[in-house]
Amino acid sequence: MKLFAIFGDPVAHSRSPLMHNHVFKSLEYKACYTRIHLTDGSKLKETFFALGLSGANVTVPHKEAAFNACDEIRGFAKTVGVVNTLINENGRLIGYNTDADGFMYAIEPFKNVKTILVLGAGGTAKALANRFKNDGIKVTVMNRSAGRLEAFHTQGFKTITWETVELKSYDLIVNTTSAGLDDDKLPAPEKILTPLLKQARYAADAIYGKVTPFLALCNDLGLTSKDGADMLLGQGVLANNYFTNDQFSLETIKKPMQESFLF
Ligand code: NDP
Repeated sequence: MKLFAIFGDPVAHSRSPLMHNHVFKSLEYKACYTRIHLTDGSKLKETFFALGLSGANVTVPHKEAAFNACDEIRGFAKTVGVVNTLINENGRLIGYNTDADGFMYAIEPFKNVKTILVLGAGGTAKALANRFKNDGIKVTVMNRSAGRLEAFHTQGFKTITWETVELKSYDLIVNTTSAGLDDDKLPAPEKILTPLLKQARYAADAIYGKVTPFLALCNDLGLTSKDGADMLLGQGVLANNYFTNDQFSLETIKKPMQESFLF
């Protein structure tokens, strides 16, 4: 029996154990998936191996720590320095990023998106901003504090803080902050967000399982928006494909994973 887990702080909200366990059970794959509340990201690697894990997911706020913990990084994670999926390959820790492709899957229904405002400058923002850029989308990143914007600025993204924001129209505004995850906060003051959202065509929140204050504001303004559930599904299918060593097709994994959203 293989053991998998999700590391995070907080982690109680995570639906990943439900999703992956249902896939394992449905596909008769001998594995179990649990959650680990990890406060110190520097302990990620030793905890992973101490528990004898075959693989793991990593959520807020340890995705950059996960990148640093890996013996080898593969694929898109190399470009962004952010890892959300870990695999134990013969005692070596291999890191992947499935968040960005998961999000692209989620926004497929949003047509003709050429400009995006990303709210937040953490691990998820890094992955998404770079993925958007790869697709030729013009990306602006807004964060409450300037420190984490430096890296984006160096990579050539337009960066703004609440103090330097200008009123512009974006096709899509994405909340990648953790505001609203465990509290009732907006990702930026309402007086900044409302005019921006009024001019946007779509909005999306990476947070799932609740109507965040950000999504509630989008709803009030009549904006077409979605929560992070499809992103969760998209990244989860790709992660499970790594966990099961490419034994099943993405479609085969997606069906039971989608079913688990009804529980
Ligand atoms: P990080 O901790 O790396 O980054 C958090 C970001 O949020 C930082 O930019 C931080 O700003 C900002 N922030 C935190 N609190 C506030 C606040 N009250 N107001 C404004 N900004 C705030 O987190 P991650 O990037 O790993 O995750 C971000 C969110 O995305 C989480 O809620 C996570 O659950 C969600 N997520 C969902 C996924 C899905 O599958 N649906 C997948 C991945 C992530 P500062 O730099 O100033 O501290």
